[in-house]
Amino acid sequence: MNLLFEPAAPVIAPTATGAGFPVRRIFCIGRNYEEHAKEMGMQADPEAPFFFTKWAETLVGDGATIAYPQGTENFHYEAELVVAIGRGGRNIPASEAMDHVWGYACGLDMTRRDLQAEARAKGRPWDSGKNVEQSSPLGLIHPVEVLGDATRGAITLTVNGAVRQQGDLADLITPVDRLIAYLSSLYRLEAGDLIYTGTPAGVGAVVPGDVMVVAIDGLSPLTITVGPLAE
Ligand code: MN
Repeated sequence: MNLLFEPAAPVIAPTATGAGFPVRRIFCIGRNYEEHAKEMGMQADPEAPFFFTKWAETLVGDGATIAYPQGTENFHYEAELVVAIGRGGRNIPASEAMDHVWGYACGLDMTRRDLQAEARAKGRPWDSGKNVEQSSPLGLIHPVEVLGDATRGAITLTVNGAVRQQGDLADLITPVDRLIAYLSSLYRLEAGDLIYTGTPAGVGAVVPGDVMVVAIDGLSPLTITVGPLAE
């Protein structure tokens, strides 16, 4: 069949092995560190994880300059561990979850905080605050062996060299294995899915010219610059 126009290019994330990781869907977990839930004025609920999604096309790679998005005056960083799913499955038990993980990377869940807060207050979906162009920076994906089940390890974010977020994967309220069990109880997870696992305390705003660096023990750091307003 002739195509009416060129389809969008597939989204491919680089990995430490040199092979590309074709990205399928992006799931983002909310309020997964207690101190961050508190700074948002909310209570974390260990019994009830929740998530939102972003388009795969919001992904950008290490070293990118992202445009400051339109429609916000409060553009926030959220440093996160990202899980890359390599094998699909439905109703995956936590005890088997690691068999489905291809690897891990440093990530940023960039957020139009003013729009998210407004949506939250009105009981509306978070898409305008979260599913934003270039809002899902992702570092090099390392094979699962590097972090194992990712139950410990420092995670930090600096802006222009100053530490703004500092946490430990040990403080994830719902750890990686249970996140996979949870999401796969609602969808068949597929190879290529990414799970942004939530951010520690210390979120804040950036402005054009700021340079953010996310570091997680054992993984390649992720460096992203904020550019001028999107055209
Ligand atoms: Mn987040």
